[in-house]
Amino acid sequence: MSPSYDVIVLGLGGMGSAAAHHLAARGARVLGLEKFGPVHQRGSSHGGSRITRQSYFEDPAYVPLLLRAHELYARLARDSGRRVATLCGGVMVGRPGSRTVAGALRSARTWDLPHEMLDAKEIRRRFPTLAPAADEVALYEARAGFVRPEHTVAAQLQLAGQSGAALHFQEPVTRWEALPGGRGVRVHTPDDTYTAGQLVICPGAWAPRLLAGLGVPFTIERQVMYWFAPAGGTAPYAPEQHPVYIWEDAAGVQIYGFPAIDGPDGGAKVAFFRKGTLCTPENIDRTVHEDEVRAMAAQAARLLPTLPGRFLSAATCMYSNTPDEHFVITRHPAHPDAVTVACGFSGHGFKFVPVVGEILADLALTGETGHPIELFDPGRLTAAPVPGGVR
Ligand SMILES: Cc1cc2nc3c(=O)[nH]c(=O)nc-3n(C[C@H](O)[C@H](O)[C@H](O)COP(=O)(O)OP(=O)(O)OC[C@H]3O[C@@H](n4cnc5c(N)ncnc54)[C@H](O)[C@@H]3O)c2cc1C
Repeated sequence: MSPSYDVIVLGLGGMGSAAAHHLAARGARVLGLEKFGPVHQRGSSHGGSRITRQSYFEDPAYVPLLLRAHELYARLARDSGRRVATLCGGVMVGRPGSRTVAGALRSARTWDLPHEMLDAKEIRRRFPTLAPAADEVALYEARAGFVRPEHTVAAQLQLAGQSGAALHFQEPVTRWEALPGGRGVRVHTPDDTYTAGQLVICPGAWAPRLLAGLGVPFTIERQVMYWFAPAGGTAPYAPEQHPVYIWEDAAGVQIYGFPAIDGPDGGAKVAFFRKGTLCTPENIDRTVHEDEVRAMAAQAARLLPTLPGRFLSAATCMYSNTPDEHFVITRHPAHPDAVTVACGFSGHGFKFVPVVGEILADLALTGETGHPIELFDPGRLTAAPVPGGVR
């Protein structure tokens, strides 16, 4: 007979490793099941860096979660001894009415977040690598920066293990079911069958298959990250003086990028925020093509003329989008007593990883959370979830 657990966590990427850490730290007997190895490159939590920011243009409702995530990243760094987050400042650049600028300003004002508004001349003076158009402005915030996805996942797995969680890698979940009468869940893998009181599902880009029963029309998008060696060297791009940035052009196209965070040879990373192509985890094209590199270099050069000096490398990654690009974090509507899900992070979830772990631990252990997660209710996206339609 396989041992029984309090909670099984399906998927040990960004969100699942956070859940395993928070659950185990609260004393739950946790089993984590992951299809691939620890800290792998085949999901959504790799590529060296993720932007973190607080004046959130997407919606002010995210701000309390961002403030909590900020505290929990600091605690994670302290407890694991790993450098998981760096605040180098950040600029949201665009026309004053753009979503990037106006949305960020709305969040900053709603929550009274420290920020500065810079006109084009001031942007150029403060950040000489940036060359905005005369009618562009920026919201600058000192409490923006970057988090390290691989270090974060490794830190969370390390702490989960130290708190007694059993973490099984290379062991995919093939099927799960909620047991009748509130008796928990049964989870199947090629190696074994496990039972637990609770299941927490953090499937990333595998959500369309693993959570078909939710009835949410997820779309999985191939995204590319690019690293360039700036013309004239990386010194002006050093994180001590260079912010992270998101820039929206007049046509609404957003790019984002980072300082040169890996020293003189690492280059600086830049990417289109959206503009991906549809894919599945099975058929994603992992090759980055020359025309893609050219298009990225041309767009980046409009704001940062020296950035695309020499192309260094590129890598693909997947977004798991919901139709409105807001997350799904909830008790499973068809199994509200036993199953919790976190998915559909729509390309902006990593900065929330530790607070999502805290929320998932709340939901799995007590059935509720004090954090504001109303925006993430899947009911907004689907009139009627398919009862029992789960795999
Ligand atoms: C290019 C790119 C740039 C991004 N930039 C930012 C950014 O700047 N800021 C930001 O906040 N966010 C950003 N994001 C988004 C953020 O990285 C994601 O929202 C986050 O990583 C999602 O974490 P996850 O745990 O849902 O997915 P993942 O980390 O992919 O984890 C899902 C895990 O489930 C496992 N799994 C799947 N099926 C099974 C199964 N059957 N059995 C066992 N295990 C299974 C997978 O192997 C995987 O490890 C970016 C994403 C990409 C791709």
